[in-house]
Amino acid sequence: MTTRPDLEALDRADPLAPFRERFALPRGQLYFVGNSLGAMPKASAERMRRVVDQEWSQDLVRSWNRHGWVDLPQRLGDKIGRLIGAAPGETVACDSTSVNLFKALAMAVKLRPGRRVIVSDADNFPTDLYMAQGLSGWLGDGVELRTVALDRLDSALGEDVAVVSLSHVNYRTGELFDMAAITRKVHDCGALMLWDLAHSAGALPIELAACGADFAVGCGYKYFNGGPGAPAWIHVAERLHAQVRSPLTGWFGHERPFAFEGHYAPAAGIASLLVGTPPILSMSALEASVDLMLEAPMAQIREKSLRLSAAFIELVEQHCAGHGLQLVTPREPGRRGSQVCLRHAQAWPVMQALIARGVIGDVRAPDILRFGFTPLYLRYTDVWDAVSALAEVLRSGEWQREEFQLRAKVT
Ligand SMILES: *Cc1c(COP(=O)(O)O)cnc(C)c1O
Repeated sequence: MTTRPDLEALDRADPLAPFRERFALPRGQLYFVGNSLGAMPKASAERMRRVVDQEWSQDLVRSWNRHGWVDLPQRLGDKIGRLIGAAPGETVACDSTSVNLFKALAMAVKLRPGRRVIVSDADNFPTDLYMAQGLSGWLGDGVELRTVALDRLDSALGEDVAVVSLSHVNYRTGELFDMAAITRKVHDCGALMLWDLAHSAGALPIELAACGADFAVGCGYKYFNGGPGAPAWIHVAERLHAQVRSPLTGWFGHERPFAFEGHYAPAAGIASLLVGTPPILSMSALEASVDLMLEAPMAQIREKSLRLSAAFIELVEQHCAGHGLQLVTPREPGRRGSQVCLRHAQAWPVMQALIARGVIGDVRAPDILRFGFTPLYLRYTDVWDAVSALAEVLRSGEWQREEFQLRAKVT
């Protein structure tokens, strides 16, 4: 049984504990939404100040060369590649995850002429489904999206499938899927594999190359702590570089952007996935936060994440029983990402009451309370404090107050 003294001992022995002071954390709050918008690394704020005060205000256009702005998407992409098991030159920072999904799906469909089906998880993150629907509608030509419950993936695979597009961790349940086994199965049917790592990159060790993944995309603002609306990234396995053509042929993906030629010629390698001028301010913040992440061993991050989430599950079951909560996230550590989700019929007001007590989680419609665990800035004792507050909210019924019923635009 987990007790507060046990958790204090874990904090004292925690090799990641020194990372906490590298973040500017909100005062008087415990933050469990790092799986949606990561906390701000102090280094990112310092980097932003330097970019604003010197590079932008003083050096202006010369900064493209002088401060390496022009190479930032590739330099940052290679650093992200180290966090997802990719070789240098396979990953580039650019655009949003949604736009990168479009590029990856379009390239995959082109690589498998004669196969017209995109397969995805019926419970995938909506934008992943929307982008596939948009692409298939726009292409016409018989291209269609086929969605399936992931435990029935086999039934959707066949000779008509061009690409399978899945999230590594389900955003609503926190379930982690077996990347190696699924990728193998997809390749066995002759299709390509696209992984969305929005909820796993930066949270657990990932071996894209060893798993043989073809494409991957992910966010900069979740576990990478890159800031609101941080640039995303796209990964294409090197073996495909000579065959793929991006559907978005902008000048930053040209072989010689500054030759200003009238005809598009793709850059060699991953650079051809760039479209337009990179957002230097936000990309600089992301580079500083990724540098910070590279200092922490990913195996330690994973180990602490699983201990935090296991302690949370255990404490919720000890202290919140009988209040209509139901665990949605798998208990087996190997099937759990870095968040724990609880179903409750009054999820929204319960979370608002919890937030009023300084414990910040979020809600996913219609009835899921989500708690993200970010080992670089959360303490084991924070888990205790969060569960105590949740138990108090449920026991007192304070979530029934009128002020907690109001819905906000962003959840
Ligand atoms: C957060 C998330 C996205 C977000 O896409 P954006 O284009 O950055 O808004 C996409 N896919 C998944 C699986 C996500 O969790």
